[in-house]
Amino acid sequence: TYGLSPEELALKAEADAFGRSVVSKRGVEIDQTREYPWDVVEAMRGQGFLGMTIPTEYGGQGRSFLDTVLVVEEIAKHCTVAARIVVETNMGALSTVMAYGTEKQKRLAAELVLSGDKPAICITEPDAGSDATSLSTRADKRGDGYVINGAKHWITGAGVSKLHLIFARVFDEDGVDQGIGGFLTVLGAKGLRVSNRETTMGLRGMPEGGLAFEDLEIPADMALVPPSGFRRGFADLMNAYNSQRVGAGTVAMGIASGAFELATEWVKTRRQFGRPIGEFQGLQWMLADMSMQLTASRLMLYAAARSRGPNGSPFPDPVLAAQAKIFASEAAFKVVNDALQLYGARGYSQDLPIERMLRDVRMFTIGGGTAQVLRTLVASKVLGWRLPQTRDGTWDDQRASRS
Ligand code: FAD
Repeated sequence: TYGLSPEELALKAEADAFGRSVVSKRGVEIDQTREYPWDVVEAMRGQGFLGMTIPTEYGGQGRSFLDTVLVVEEIAKHCTVAARIVVETNMGALSTVMAYGTEKQKRLAAELVLSGDKPAICITEPDAGSDATSLSTRADKRGDGYVINGAKHWITGAGVSKLHLIFARVFDEDGVDQGIGGFLTVLGAKGLRVSNRETTMGLRGMPEGGLAFEDLEIPADMALVPPSGFRRGFADLMNAYNSQRVGAGTVAMGIASGAFELATEWVKTRRQFGRPIGEFQGLQWMLADMSMQLTASRLMLYAAARSRGPNGSPFPDPVLAAQAKIFASEAAFKVVNDALQLYGARGYSQDLPIERMLRDVRMFTIGGGTAQVLRTLVASKVLGWRLPQTRDGTWDDQRASRS
């Protein structure tokens, strides 16, 4: 039971029952229609799975990230899109607002999430992917507020999310660069336009799309400023966002956990050569390896989730979160791929959920920081060096950080 408390085990059991009875019916349809599952959102809201981590003074349950992880795994076994909604209504952009927001901002985020909104985080741009700090969306200070211009792409929830946290380069009234800041706005604001929807390999009920900001006005009280200010604020905003990595890794692990359960049942019933295929040692060892990958992923994700505590940091430890996301996302792809292999031809058919799970799980080594970029983050900690990736930054920064 991984050292889970009776309350945590009860929550996991509740999510398991909910996943089996409510979510499992909808997984296939959501994939086929590519429609955002508002009915599942409403059911999850009724069950208390949205906004669980919001402090009680803002109407939430003040639950931990570990509680969220436990629910996400169970939901992801049946529907990846629903599981991602649980992540993003408890972690990610919401955690950033809850960490650094003003009273007004926290109340706005809590109210929207508790009524079923999955906030969107808007960082990536066509020319700023892994190199997120090179983003060119700008927020110009004008009078009492900011005016945002620019474009983002691959924004999860484009067109369905109400609350948006937009990262932009801030310029003061004299046009002087102030660093990168976060800005909150709500769908429907003048100057916020959904520019396209991607046609994706998996995760199909969740819109991924482009956003255009055309003189989008943001009042000053909707700027999300970490204590370190705009200048050094980007690192703080990203740190707060790193709960998302634990969530994303858990979705991947949950998909794999679901595929593993299906494959384990299958090898007991499918017969070839006059015996259940589970009697072949080659397949037994595959199952053993799959179970090890899942146990290791779970332990790493739980440790990362637990590293944020009421007495410790308000965010999961960045290295534990990165390690857990890298490991869990890579292991999950392998586990689901092996599960498909155990099903033979049937696994390749759309009649069973395994092929969808494989399409869905493929994403998790990319979004929210690629496996390569996160390895650089981990290596930087291991070496105790800053590891800027630009050609010009590398040597000067290295000398400075080693001396
Ligand atoms: P690139 O940065 O162009 O990288 C291409 C390849 O080069 C990758 O393999 C990468 O690992 C590698 N690479 C790049 N630099 C280095 C380096 N220094 N060292 C080693 N390898 C390197 N973004 C948002 O802001 N909000 C969202 O809600 C959001 N949702 C997403 C949902 C999905 C389904 C996906 C697929 C993406 C989403 N993203 C979102 C974008 C995501 O964060 C980026 O895709 C990711 O950061 C990588 O950027 P890129 O795709 O431009 O790849």
